[in-house]
Amino acid sequence: MSIEQLVNPHIRALSPYVPGKPVEEVERELGIVGSVKLASNENPLGPSPKAIEAVAAALGDVNRYPDGACFELRARLSERLGVGGDQLIFGCGADEVLELVVKTFLAPGDEVVMPWPSFAMYPIVTQGMGGTSKRIPLTEDMTHDLPAMAAAVSDRTKIVFLCNPNNPTGTSFSASEQDAFVKELPEDVILVIDEAYVEFARRNDFPNSLASIDQRPATLVLRTFSKIYGLAGLRVGYGISSPELIGFLDRARHPFNVNRIAEAAALAALDDEAHAKLSWETNGAGAEFLTRSLEALGHSVWPTDANFLLVEAGEGVVDALLQEGVIVRPLAGFGMPRHLRVSIGTAEENERAVRAFARIAERGDVAGVES
Ligand SMILES: *Cc1c(COP(=O)(O)O)cnc(C)c1O
Repeated sequence: MSIEQLVNPHIRALSPYVPGKPVEEVERELGIVGSVKLASNENPLGPSPKAIEAVAAALGDVNRYPDGACFELRARLSERLGVGGDQLIFGCGADEVLELVVKTFLAPGDEVVMPWPSFAMYPIVTQGMGGTSKRIPLTEDMTHDLPAMAAAVSDRTKIVFLCNPNNPTGTSFSASEQDAFVKELPEDVILVIDEAYVEFARRNDFPNSLASIDQRPATLVLRTFSKIYGLAGLRVGYGISSPELIGFLDRARHPFNVNRIAEAAALAALDDEAHAKLSWETNGAGAEFLTRSLEALGHSVWPTDANFLLVEAGEGVVDALLQEGVIVRPLAGFGMPRHLRVSIGTAEENERAVRAFARIAERGDVAGVES
């Protein structure tokens, strides 16, 4: 008997998500110290000091189960976003909400239309339910090909994922582009708009996805406390949709999926608008500095509405950076061995990264790097 024979075929075929390497692991493997991690789009300023205080204050109560309904966080967010409390669902990261969506709506054989390259979890959760991923290539300027995505929707399509701004490219689409897409989309397809980076967006014509939920109840907008709010390690994300859709996701949810510490931290982080503003400003300045510096080295850098940059620096540069103690995200898994994704860090971290890029370009001994 082998256990493998017993495994559901779609789970057997799964390749797990590959996260950014922790600093400790890289330093252990390479025998270096003082490296910087710019690989997972984390907030380089850390969490809000108010969130840290709230965590400390909540620690004494961890013998008690959390509030499974997230009453306080729900009330605060509903007020902040101008939606009903019954339009929100919370998860152990937005990742869990993604999983709830497929668990609730997807049956084996159903199709999911998604942009590609995009967030690696979309095909993973789809495959996890036995669904089929229809990956629609980005356009040449690395944005969603929304007309092609609309055309790819068939009778078998149950869910469409949009990622705006898109990970790993940082690019975004406008309100009018989204409206045109939604107009073409049959109303019985679940539309998931993943806005994990929405708080960083700078363009004026960014879609107001919350407004469109009223017109199209089968729309779910995903947000998270992991990115601008700096709470990736605590795992809180949420979805916003019509009360009806949220009600079904809630049936599929574990009762205590957001822990007590995480809820306290999220509440405090939400109230610390100064920290979010500082994070936004630091990110904008960093994006500008990194773009200018990397372009000066001859690399291509795409415009970003998020807290990371897509860079074409040449093959081998990801490993060369690692040797220099700078951890970035390789994109070879998307068939893009010349590209990498670098998260925007503090001014100091960005300077450190640019020095490493410069040394590598200067040496010119990395395959594919033009000097
Ligand atoms: C980071 C990220 C998420 C999920 O983040 P959580 O930490 O699970 O809340 C979702 N979508 C995209 C595109 C992301 O980059």
